[in-house]
Amino acid sequence: MLYDILIIGAGPAGISAGIYAVSRGKKTLILEQSQVGGIIGKVSTVTHYTALVPHETGATFAARMKEQALCAGVEIAYEKVTAVDLAGDIKTISTDKGVHQARRVILANGGTPRKLGIPGEDALDGKGMGMNAAKDAAAYTGKSIYVVGGADGAVKEALYLASFAKQLTIIHFEDQLGCIAEFRQKVAATGNITLRLASRLHGVYGREQVERLEIASERDGSIETIEDPGCGVFVYAGVLPNTDLYTGLALQDGYILTNDKMEASLPGVYAAGDIRLKQVRQVSTAVADGTIAAINAALS
Ligand SMILES: Cc1cc2nc3c(=O)[nH]c(=O)nc-3n(C[C@H](O)[C@H](O)[C@H](O)COP(=O)(O)OP(=O)(O)OC[C@H]3O[C@@H](n4cnc5c(N)ncnc54)[C@H](O)[C@@H]3O)c2cc1C
Repeated sequence: MLYDILIIGAGPAGISAGIYAVSRGKKTLILEQSQVGGIIGKVSTVTHYTALVPHETGATFAARMKEQALCAGVEIAYEKVTAVDLAGDIKTISTDKGVHQARRVILANGGTPRKLGIPGEDALDGKGMGMNAAKDAAAYTGKSIYVVGGADGAVKEALYLASFAKQLTIIHFEDQLGCIAEFRQKVAATGNITLRLASRLHGVYGREQVERLEIASERDGSIETIEDPGCGVFVYAGVLPNTDLYTGLALQDGYILTNDKMEASLPGVYAAGDIRLKQVRQVSTAVADGTIAAINAALS
């Protein structure tokens, strides 16, 4: 099957692109390795995008995105893209389930949360370490919770988790939280949140659960050991762009370079959302990128 437009990724950028592509009469396929929604589909609370419903969760937001796309006639296949040939007029996309071809391709496959690379991170994954706030918060009701990261996403998840935790500690490597004023004020007004600034999580230890943490000081390099059996550690240490497959494209710091039509460096190839080099990475900008990419892909 030869598609007019093939989109990789069903996050906000890919879904927006899909809706606009079919509205232009284009035969469109979205390839998604996991679920519709992308990163925002997995968060506890979605904030600041327009027309959110009160207490919007990632899951409810993603469900509406999916429904809108399917109602619009977007075809979504749950396949992981494993190789791409983007050079010719007809683009070939290989997945874990087959091969697809299209005249235009929109790369909207976002990023992957960065790991810390510390002792215990992999061994305790899912056993108290690297948890998902939306899914796992309730299991830590009345317990200690540690959140690694001080940017908007991290602090937003911390505010949600604090409503379950006995005590919540935010571990952040800088001297101040790197989040917006709204979240900073909410943290100050939340009685059970403690800040460990200029600090890094250095290691987690235990067998079936996290028993002990080590926190390193950025100021003097000292390491403090904290015994805290059964605590939960939630990591929001940034996101790395999923561009490993795109070796033929111009990248900067791992992000895809585009012009203002969202065209990448090869003809017929577009990029949208968090995967491209840009200043602001939010749902609103991902949706806007997807719109622009699809309209231009349909015109070209
Ligand atoms: C903790 C956190 C909280 C946030 N909260 C907010 C918020 O409240 N409001 C807001 O506006 N923004 C928020 N953001 C930012 C927002 O989530 C992103 O800007 C947005 O999700 C980017 O959308 P995207 O479609 O570009 O990429 P993504 O959301 O990353 O989606 C990419 C999709 O591509 C798929 N994919 C990846 N590789 C492949 C492959 N090889 N084959 C097939 N599919 C693939 C992925 O499974 C994923 O579904 C938050 C970010 C974080 C980290």
